[in-house]
Amino acid sequence: MQLVVDWDGTVTDGDTLHAAIEEFGDLGVFRAMDSEIGRRLPLQEVIAIEMATISAPLDEVVSFLVDTIALRPGFRELVERHDPLVVSMGFHELIAPLLERDEIAVRIVANRLDARPDGWRALFREQATCAVCGEPCKRSDVAGLNGFIYVGDGFSDRCVSLATDRVFARAGLAEYLAAKGAPFESFEDFYDVDAALGGAVVPPMRSRGRNT
Ligand SMILES: [Mg+2]
Ligand SMILES: [Zn+2]
Repeated sequence: MQLVVDWDGTVTDGDTLHAAIEEFGDLGVFRAMDSEIGRRLPLQEVIAIEMATISAPLDEVVSFLVDTIALRPGFRELVERHDPLVVSMGFHELIAPLLERDEIAVRIVANRLDARPDGWRALFREQATCAVCGEPCKRSDVAGLNGFIYVGDGFSDRCVSLATDRVFARAGLAEYLAAKGAPFESFEDFYDVDAALGGAVVPPMRSRGRNT
């Protein structure tokens, strides 16, 4: 069955959009907008407003992210063993450089950026309005799959993770599913996920911490 994995906060150790906005954009807008997600504004609209607070050159933001954002341990092995599909509400322009740095090739479904000097524009991929949550959502990214296992951490994973029986969750997604009484398996890194999927990869230096 296809393994489907969120990017920010799931593959990455920190949220790249949050980090980029904290360094180059307006964190006040980010904080104010985050409380609107799922309330008054659809997620796409919130992301668009947040990204518009960044006007720095793309390569400057990319080198900052390459220097500061790590991938969660075990992702390389997960890609080699399970050929996951990454589905992200983030942007190819900010995802690809981190994968290139770590020399990992994986299939990505994400959005595009127009990094204009008067504020970045988010160019969202075509996603159908979801019959369940009422906004464009990741359910449309997995619609063509014949069953899937989902791995995620946050708001953009909520609706899609209710569409399958097997979910690996951490952080906010785990809290959300627990509150709903929906089943999920916890994970901290991708060695956990691989082990639960029957893998036998021995994690290197596992007790040494994760920010290496
Ligand atoms: Mg996430
Ligand atoms: Zn939905």
